[in-house]
Amino acid sequence: MKKLSLPAVNFATALNEAISGIGDVSQRQTYQSAFLDAHAIETHYADCATAATLHAQPRVTTLDDPIIIAHLRKSDLMRLYTQYFVPKDKAARRIYEDIKVTANGKCPLCGGVGHVRTLDHYLPKSNFPLYSVMPANLIPCCRDCNSEKLNAFAGAMKDQTLHPYFDHDRFFDDKWIYANVIQSSPPVLEYFVRPPESWDSSHKSRVKAHFDDYGLADKFSVEAAADLPETIQTRRTSMVMSSPQEFSNYLSEKSRTLSFPVNNWRRVMFAALAADEWFCEQEFLESRDN
Ligand SMILES: [Zn+2]
Repeated sequence: MKKLSLPAVNFATALNEAISGIGDVSQRQTYQSAFLDAHAIETHYADCATAATLHAQPRVTTLDDPIIIAHLRKSDLMRLYTQYFVPKDKAARRIYEDIKVTANGKCPLCGGVGHVRTLDHYLPKSNFPLYSVMPANLIPCCRDCNSEKLNAFAGAMKDQTLHPYFDHDRFFDDKWIYANVIQSSPPVLEYFVRPPESWDSSHKSRVKAHFDDYGLADKFSVEAAADLPETIQTRRTSMVMSSPQEFSNYLSEKSRTLSFPVNNWRRVMFAALAADEWFCEQEFLESRDN
């Protein structure tokens, strides 16, 4: 839900760094000769990602271990990542760390609820091993988002989650997440997807898929529940004399001026609270048992 710039390092460089960590000379040469055309593979990936057609790339089933390119099997390509790209004593680890920091610590998949701890393969390496060390396929993310997505990848365009490097700005700049205020004590925020009417149906489906696959309704609701007491406290103290309209204006202003992307759970929360007459009319008197 947050657009990221494409990693500065290209596929050929990432491959070279990973391959340089292989001790055996003939094995190293096998990998090098397999990837003479790394640039073409990377360009093809970028074209498909931009057109949202990565779902149609040839995939292998999770248990199979076929030849993928030249003499390299899927297991060879997965090993390139796990043994020669990720370990801290390998040269390629520097690239891993560089990609991780591009998100400024906030997970782009859940809109910053989680902190970046790992890299996620947008196309899972067990199904699309060709891209196991391609920087454009490696997304910095939090542990929750990484484990929720583990090895699942859409079979249709409409089910693909958002790609933070390649997807169109509309997904990041247009508002498509809203919330309802549930009248309870304490009030609860219930988040949902409502894409702009003008969007194509496949775009509408994709944001819904992203929202559902990463469990954003629950994640955002939990964050809002932890944040809401501060706003209620403001209503009880510094804004105790304000009219419902003044309180609503204050909440709208907060939603507008927060420096987060438009679909950030906190911005969406303040907009929902501002629009909710019941919430703005509450006095939130402290109950005696508190
Ligand atoms: Zn996340």
